[in-house]
Amino acid sequence: MDVTSFGIDHDRLLRGIYVSRKDTVENGVLTTFDIRMKEPNREMVLDTSVMHTIEHLMATFFRGHKQWADKTIYIGPMGCRTGMYAIFKGDLSSEDVLDIITKCYEYMENFEEEIPAAKSHMCGNYLDHNLGITKIECSKFLEEVLYQMKKENMEYPIQKN
Ligand SMILES: [Zn+2]
Repeated sequence: MDVTSFGIDHDRLLRGIYVSRKDTVENGVLTTFDIRMKEPNREMVLDTSVMHTIEHLMATFFRGHKQWADKTIYIGPMGCRTGMYAIFKGDLSSEDVLDIITKCYEYMENFEEEIPAAKSHMCGNYLDHNLGITKIECSKFLEEVLYQMKKENMEYPIQKN
């Protein structure tokens, strides 16, 4: 299935976990997930400092995880500031990653330590972080979306012509 050719209807897109694309590379398939934390154009977007902190914490969580470290290719923020991208090895579905992404948001919601790699020699804008609001945003996403996932939070709405 060529998911990249579908026209996603952002006017009807909800918060959730969606398969953004699948790419076949030499040794298998890579799945890119759209972790959508805000409804596009209908909700306030995430602050850049919050997206930055989520990027550092999410990368730390996956790169340090026993089962997922080897599968994790990339974690990064969306330019529109409504969510994050995560690329994993394997031909995966939203159901396959729901549990681990929920655990990642619980890790971020409960994070109390110093933000990893938020030092001038390790980060391009190390002062631009906000752990307090990050924890609130993660808690909201868990309660309102991840703990009550429905089909429409895992399947893209397609544009009607
Ligand atoms: Zn950084």
